[in-house]
Amino acid sequence: MLYVSTRNAEEKVSASQAILKGLAGQGGLFVPEQIPKLDCSAEQLMNLTYQETAYEVMKLFLTDFTEEELKKCIQSAYDEKFDTEEIAPLVKSEDVHFLELFHGATIAFKDMALSILPHLLITSARKNHVKNDIVILTATSGDTGKAALAGFADVEGTKIIVFYPKDGVSPIQEKQMVTQKGDNTFVVGINGNFDQAQTGVKQMFSDERLAQEMEAAGYQFSSANSINIGRLVPQIVYYVYAYGRMLKSGEIAKGEKINVVVPTGNFGNILAAFYAKNMGLPIGKLICASNENKVLYDFFATGTYDRNREFILTSSPSMDILISSNLERLIYRIAGDDAKKNQSLMKALQEEGKYEITPEMREELAEFYGNYASEAETAEVIKEIYGQDGYVIDTHTAVAAAVYRKYRKETGDTAKTVIASTASPFKFTRSVMTAIDEKYDSQPDFQLVDELSALSGVKVPRAIEEIRTAPVRHETVCEVEEMQSVVKKFLKM
Ligand SMILES: *Cc1c(COP(=O)(O)O)cnc(C)c1O
Repeated sequence: MLYVSTRNAEEKVSASQAILKGLAGQGGLFVPEQIPKLDCSAEQLMNLTYQETAYEVMKLFLTDFTEEELKKCIQSAYDEKFDTEEIAPLVKSEDVHFLELFHGATIAFKDMALSILPHLLITSARKNHVKNDIVILTATSGDTGKAALAGFADVEGTKIIVFYPKDGVSPIQEKQMVTQKGDNTFVVGINGNFDQAQTGVKQMFSDERLAQEMEAAGYQFSSANSINIGRLVPQIVYYVYAYGRMLKSGEIAKGEKINVVVPTGNFGNILAAFYAKNMGLPIGKLICASNENKVLYDFFATGTYDRNREFILTSSPSMDILISSNLERLIYRIAGDDAKKNQSLMKALQEEGKYEITPEMREELAEFYGNYASEAETAEVIKEIYGQDGYVIDTHTAVAAAVYRKYRKETGDTAKTVIASTASPFKFTRSVMTAIDEKYDSQPDFQLVDELSALSGVKVPRAIEEIRTAPVRHETVCEVEEMQSVVKKFLKM
């Protein structure tokens, strides 16, 4: 299986090369030439562990990895770093199934992919005889950063540099990042928003002069952002796993379609669900949930993607995004795998901040449903679900739950539904607790953590316990224009 650039049909690479490069030339993204079909039966599926499911899915995409290599990557990733043996448990509340993707090192769903990416990357480097040290450059809206730092800390032959919007992440997210250990880790706050951080990183990736200077100094860049197929592929796994669990528990019959609701930012997680569907997993609707930064909702509603609008800071900061990078992979697909067509739309996005797809392309989007939740609706659903059965969800998951209610009301569709639960409520404690009762707003962060534990009956996760007392190790703050010079300084170039 080869991977082709969304912006240049001539650029084709193996899986390991795509993982190493992260981004294709001219700002393109690598996509699999075709989506492989799942080759295990329902009976097999329902008896697989998470790790076994991961192998069944990933072997179809990473075809230049040997069985031994891939199994080793999987075993190194999905181990005691997760606080549950199931890795991604399903919890039923009301009439939906929450797929808890937050049991890893940093209690958010990015751990699902970022715990395996360093292993995939190191294996890929070995396979391709890479001598340089690999520099992971990442822009984060909060969760990617910490999950990538945790994944790469002290991994030999790598360095990791993370940029985050100084005033655009939660206090706990920031504390998690700036206390990161590991001599190869660097964390920088920028005076700007996530899109500016991401644009700055993308520019460095496509700067050929910088690449030459790096090469001379014995470095090469790679990306841990959700544009790396080494992140995308591991995310397909949990949808397949969830389906297997629901079969096993008798919740669904063989072949029965389920809906999937995904709180969406960069469009990586929902794209993975789309790929799972294309592999033959019986998924009905792909429900794309946005917060008040509702670019995607507008896109599904009108066929025009328009980032020219005010950037809103919400209580679900990991979804505060106006350019959803991974959407390009879907655009490429619905353009009939046409790199030229995609390229011209992306050019319009870069130059005018918007593009419009054709009516034929819009027809291809029928399996998606988009909607958004306001801040008030998000808080409301947290309170209601807690009130009904004591289950506490985080703000991102709440956006999905609120959008699912709208979908259900609008369509009357009662198909069994999985909501991707993307963060632990302990990561966004203040927003979650004040949604339940405003009286909590006067309490300090860590007291709220204890209150949440008492109220939900869930033990305070290790990731939170650890940062209570950890010293700050990273204090660099810079302007957007200074990002490149900061990188050079860290690398002593
Ligand atoms: C990153 C993130 C999202 C958005 O996921 P995408 O793959 O970027 O769409 C949603 N929720 C949380 C908690 C996240 O960290």
